[in-house]
Amino acid sequence: CGIVGYIGHRDAYPVIINGLKRLEYRGYDSAGIALYDGTQIQLAKTKGKVVDLQERASKEITKKGTLGIGHTRWATHGVPNDVNSHPHYSNSGDLVIIHNGIIENYASVKKELINRGYTFKSDTDTEVLVNLIEEIKKEEGVKLGKAVQLALNEVVGAYAIAVFDKNKPDEIVVAKLGSPLAIGVGDNEFFVASDASPFIEFTNNAIYLEDEEMAIIRRGRDVKVRKIGNDKEVKPFIQELQL
Ligand code: GLU
Repeated sequence: CGIVGYIGHRDAYPVIINGLKRLEYRGYDSAGIALYDGTQIQLAKTKGKVVDLQERASKEITKKGTLGIGHTRWATHGVPNDVNSHPHYSNSGDLVIIHNGIIENYASVKKELINRGYTFKSDTDTEVLVNLIEEIKKEEGVKLGKAVQLALNEVVGAYAIAVFDKNKPDEIVVAKLGSPLAIGVGDNEFFVASDASPFIEFTNNAIYLEDEEMAIIRRGRDVKVRKIGNDKEVKPFIQELQL
């Protein structure tokens, strides 16, 4: 299981596909990708290998996008199939998430969301999390980063996540607890991955998030790291990787 993300100026598709291939050693049963060009989100996902994803994407992804997230899944909640593969949309279609790990209290959260009118396409714990983020965002009237933070404070489990919002084409929000997450800091571009191998060819500057940290990554600007449990900002330590 692995995650890859990109936000910058190049086409995210090859960065993400090649990155997912570098993470194949981690093991997986399904793969998926979402690309965003600021107008339309394009999403392709499938049970199987990254080559199967490439075949599907060659038909379903027709435009380039400079923001993207990709995932290889090791199923924990819901069988390996196309629908349970990541990325997952929220009900409004505005939020898109990828997730490695487990949301342990997903059943009670799901029940509450169903009471509030939410519907679910997949059997995953991940689709519950993205809709919890959406509900909090609406209910509290907060921005994506804050909504992610509040949602993560309501869940029990382990995760590396990356999420973006259709209404915020210049931002990816990531968070980590238990599963690894590295951010590659390039020249006006940022990468996200389970380890540095997907982005080492583009930059050797990396921020390794600690457990219970999240980051708001803003295109052409900066990476803001903060604690998930409180509002303390953390000064990110940019590590120089040895090539
Ligand atoms: N728990 C999630 C699922 O079953 C993520 C699994 C993973 O780490 O890939 O879809």
